[in-house]
Amino acid sequence: MKTILEVKDLYKNFYNKEGEIEVLKNINFTLKEGEILTLLGPSGSGKSTILNILTKLLQPTSGEVNLKGNIGYMFQKDHLLEWRTIMDNITIGLEIQKKKTPENISRVEKLLKTYDLWDFRNMYPKELSGGMRQRVALIRTLSVNPDILLLDEPFSALDYQTRLLISDDVYKIIRNEGKSAILVTHDLSEAISMSDSVVVLSKRPATVKSTYDINLRQNENLTPLQTRKVPD
Ligand code: ADP
Ligand code: MG
Repeated sequence: MKTILEVKDLYKNFYNKEGEIEVLKNINFTLKEGEILTLLGPSGSGKSTILNILTKLLQPTSGEVNLKGNIGYMFQKDHLLEWRTIMDNITIGLEIQKKKTPENISRVEKLLKTYDLWDFRNMYPKELSGGMRQRVALIRTLSVNPDILLLDEPFSALDYQTRLLISDDVYKIIRNEGKSAILVTHDLSEAISMSDSVVVLSKRPATVKSTYDINLRQNENLTPLQTRKVPD
């Protein structure tokens, strides 16, 4: 498989009231095409800092990021506009990015149909369950056809039951759409069930403690999601 992202010898220091703090220390990993890689580490270790460097929101103190392709970012909160319909929420995102093309609109329509949200397109976010809202947020991220998805603790605001359902849904969608993804979490079972490889980070300053390959899903046979009621 081709490498789509390579992170090499990444260091990041911040300055705060107490002076300089070391947050990332010699971070190395590679993401292959079609792979889901999880960054697993305790809260405050520097996971979001890594993603912020990948999106170029932050500059590393030193090190290299070699990236082929474009990135889509999915946040912890869904950030849906409550006074806009589901369809508007997605197309407004396209408008802001100046990417409201017929191609992207038809991609959105197809995604909504495939993932059981078409009948909800004219409803408002508050009429949807937490899991469905998260699926809308994922479709919004997919609307511009990114090569790599970055997911920063996307399920942590959900209750346990919903989290199990939606993490499985999100996994299937990423796989069905053939995307590469980096998932950030502090939840070990989420890391194992959702990814091909897991990069384990230490407490701050984050260093790579170990990297695991996971082959549990080798013979998976993915089908479109079934319509079902996700608990609120
Ligand atoms: P995680 O996502 O793993 O919970 P973060 O990457 O958000 O951790 O933060 C890692 C550490 O860096 C934390 O101690 C945090 O307080 C610190 N930090 C993050 N952003 C900044 C910043 N802009 N300025 C100073 N310190 C920061
Ligand atoms: Mg974080």
